[in-house]
Amino acid sequence: MARATLSLSEALRTEAIVYAREALPEEACGFLLGSEAAPDAFRVEAITAARNLHPHREDRFLIDPLEYAKAERRCARHAGWRVLGFWHSHPASPPRPSPIDLEQAQGLHASFPAHYVYVIVSLEVPDAPALAAWRLDAHAAAFEALGLR
Ligand SMILES: [Zn+2]
Repeated sequence: MARATLSLSEALRTEAIVYAREALPEEACGFLLGSEAAPDAFRVEAITAARNLHPHREDRFLIDPLEYAKAERRCARHAGWRVLGFWHSHPASPPRPSPIDLEQAQGLHASFPAHYVYVIVSLEVPDAPALAAWRLDAHAAAFEALGLR
């Protein structure tokens, strides 16, 4: 089976990096809005920056629940759009999900068994931000990488 892909334009990557830098030394977070052009071919059309409500924002994030409704409303205005998933930043570590990220994604999956995608923006190397895309595997046991295009 071909690897699932996530298409994210240069402009949107830059937007996420700007939000991530603005939030330093804390993690930034938000939604990925877009469509599934074909099965397992996700296309991000917009990203949002949400308030990080977590008390330990230096290495965790918690999106304001009110932002979900806002994101849903925005998707409803565009044919085929939905909340594809979430992005967040890692101020000082690689763009790989942390054990906390896995726990959080598994918790979300248990309540809302949707197949969300996750983008992580790493500012570990300040002049060379790195992005990677992930989702839970079919058993929600671990993250698998998506091809980022
Ligand atoms: Zn993380």
